Amino acid sequence: MARATSRSAFAQPAGGGSKPGYFAIGSANALHGLDVAIGNMRDGMRPVEAAVAGVQLTEDNPDDHSVGLGGLPNEDGIVELDASVMDGPSHKCGAVGALRDICHASAVALRVMDLTDHVLLVGEGARRFAVEQGFPVENLLTDAARNEWQKWKAELSPNDNRLAPPTEPRGGGAPPEFTWGTITLMAMNEAGDLGGTTSTSGRSYKIPGRVGDSPVIGAGLYLDNEVGGCGSTGRGEANLINCSCFAVVELMRQGRTPEEAAREVLARIAKKCEPRLRNARGEPDYQLKLYAMRKDGLVGGAIMRDKGDVAVHDGTHSRLIPLPAIYT
Ligand code: ASP
Repeated sequence: MARATSRSAFAQPAGGGSKPGYFAIGSANALHGLDVAIGNMRDGMRPVEAAVAGVQLTEDNPDDHSVGLGGLPNEDGIVELDASVMDGPSHKCGAVGALRDICHASAVALRVMDLTDHVLLVGEGARRFAVEQGFPVENLLTDAARNEWQKWKAELSPNDNRLAPPTEPRGGGAPPEFTWGTITLMAMNEAGDLGGTTSTSGRSYKIPGRVGDSPVIGAGLYLDNEVGGCGSTGRGEANLINCSCFAVVELMRQGRTPEEAAREVLARIAKKCEPRLRNARGEPDYQLKLYAMRKDGLVGGAIMRDKGDVAVHDGTHSRLIPLPAIYT
């Protein structure tokens, strides 16, 4: 197994040490959303709502093929979105799975939390609820995402009747850039109250109806207002079977830093990884990223392999910070 990398430079408080303040963290594609979230919290918005407002920039962005409009579709060419929200002070959650035709999946999850006695709505029921709530119905499959899906279909088999685009050698073309991807954002206000969301179009070309970790509380998002929170991107199936975000928060409760907790959970996941998902060195051959924030403002996380960043806002400005990898 490859050696683990050294400790990251940001295992220190992002600002203020144990003094509560405005903080937000998220996946790299949440960088600009952090400014929105912090600004909204300063105007008095609940952290959970501020987090949802922050991810909407990316849900609306057709060039981000991991979420909302422009998300890569399922194997039938239909975009299906998953999202969850969690509110620290009330310890309530809302989520939607396999939601079609509605761009702002995180906002629908927020309505599930605020306006129903349920936690998770899926499929047609989630869509009907969103329409009832006045969310616009739109086709989320952009031309660029459709093109990627058609390439994928054409390259599935050399023996079918579909021709791959001439620039893409059949069966040997470069994989689409966005096979995985998600946005997660967690925010804390001056009172030390937390809120977060995770939103995604999920794994591209999935079997219709597949629901990943993002809308499952404890898997792709979890927070405890007394401890801190964790969001995740990457192979959802690994989070679903390991309750990863819940585990990170529980380890932080026991005193681990966000980075220590994330590393420990990724190491556990790696240990139990099934053989077909390991590379020649025996390492998990997939990406998984855990982004965590402790109530005292300590932020951090870890990734399973290679390179990746966490977006951090310390109340003054936002920046990207490299995450330490378990395998390089
Ligand atoms: N976690 C997402 C899912 O499995 C995908 C990703 O983040 O890449 O649905």
